[in-house]
Amino acid sequence: MDILDLTITQLHDGFVKKQFTSVEVTKAYLDNIKKTDSEIGAYLSVTEDLALAQAKKADKIIASKKDFPSLTGVPCSIKDAILVEGEKCTAGSKMLENYIAPYDATVIKNLKNNGAVILGKTNMDPFGFGSSTENSAFKVTKNPHDKTRVAGGSSGGSAASIAANEACYALGEDTGGSIRQPSSFCGVVGLKPTYGAVSRHGVFAYGSSLDQIGPMAKTVEDAKIIFKVIFGKDPLDATSVDYKFSNQESSMKGMRIGVPKEYFAKGLDPEVEKIIKNAINRAKENGAKIVDISLPNLKFALACYYVIAPSEASANLARFDGIKYGLSEQAGKDLLDVYVKSRGKGFGAEEKRRIMIGTYALSSGYYDAYYKKAEEVRQLIKQDFQNVFEKVDVIFCPVSPVPAFKIGEKADDPLLMYLADIYTISLNLAGLPGLSLPAGKIDKLPVGLQIIGNYFEENKILSVAGLMEKMLL
Ligand code: GLN
Repeated sequence: MDILDLTITQLHDGFVKKQFTSVEVTKAYLDNIKKTDSEIGAYLSVTEDLALAQAKKADKIIASKKDFPSLTGVPCSIKDAILVEGEKCTAGSKMLENYIAPYDATVIKNLKNNGAVILGKTNMDPFGFGSSTENSAFKVTKNPHDKTRVAGGSSGGSAASIAANEACYALGEDTGGSIRQPSSFCGVVGLKPTYGAVSRHGVFAYGSSLDQIGPMAKTVEDAKIIFKVIFGKDPLDATSVDYKFSNQESSMKGMRIGVPKEYFAKGLDPEVEKIIKNAINRAKENGAKIVDISLPNLKFALACYYVIAPSEASANLARFDGIKYGLSEQAGKDLLDVYVKSRGKGFGAEEKRRIMIGTYALSSGYYDAYYKKAEEVRQLIKQDFQNVFEKVDVIFCPVSPVPAFKIGEKADDPLLMYLADIYTISLNLAGLPGLSLPAGKIDKLPVGLQIIGNYFEENKILSVAGLMEKMLL
């Protein structure tokens, strides 16, 4: 088997048995990036020196210790919204084209403490604004399964890097689906944790009440290993919480799986539906109890999200003014002119669109009508899920109504692009965890099954996903 096909667990095994070294594995990945990435475009920067230094360090640990963490020596990629000290961090925006991260995000500290090897920073829609990486200021990431199609977004580079064997695993960030949707499009496993499960310290904020960092990997087992390294309370993020990750394994027998009727309505590609229904049937054959459920307020989720997310984004992006932060056009006639010119040049069309929608929704006179109303509707959506979780253990549904679409297909129509998020954003509004599991293919295009759990039940989601993964093989 090719070294690049190995999972985290398999690489760990190989290190234990001294079959290869981390430097060898890392070099194999770097070579493949050089060979493949000019075509795929998964990376915005490759951190070769850092990767090789970390690999050497990892090899010392592997040689001297009997027991070392699973991530030691295993090469990964990081979404370019997450700070890695001393390396470029652009968040996919021209505004941050030359920004060097002055410190490590907490998740990066955690990875480094576990001996991780960081190969580079991956492409994304600017600040997470998008569903295809087509909004990136730098390039479009292509889907490794069909290069005429998008890899998804906004964490498209992270997903594609795994699918193209340019990284063993990745970190992504999900505000409205940005981990799950590209994972679905690229055929990898992606987990968006419960809001508060993982520290957001050191990640460029998009929507602060929605954002979560999470793992993307080749297998469920790998995703679990990464999650266990990054989750937990961080004094530097007041919204992060302490909780115990139980290792209890679930059984399909008697598992109550909710299937929301609203997710199987108009707009869902019949081929995607077939794959998801097949997964549900497999669970049923293995003893699960399928429960028809309804989330009546789901129909408001998209409208609600596209008020709240841009509102928070417009506030978060106010700091990029060319003085405190970011691209700076110093040749202005006064301070306001510097602000206007810097923001005008640094932000792309989608960033401007979001800032304008958000600023409008937050402005005095409109705040009550839009932002406050959206927050009220958000509570209804949350309540819908809470009612459902009294009757079921997990929910099964599609991640995206369609498989990876053609590059350019939706690029000129922002509303059509926003519609692609219909199945993922409700979880962010509710703060719930969800995972995308490869469940089948339409020709060569992967389709993901979304498994949703109750708050802080990542263990249950991962355990159910592990069972499904075996059944769907
Ligand atoms: N596609 C959604 C958006 O554009 C979600 C992106 C994300 O999760 N960062 O807002």
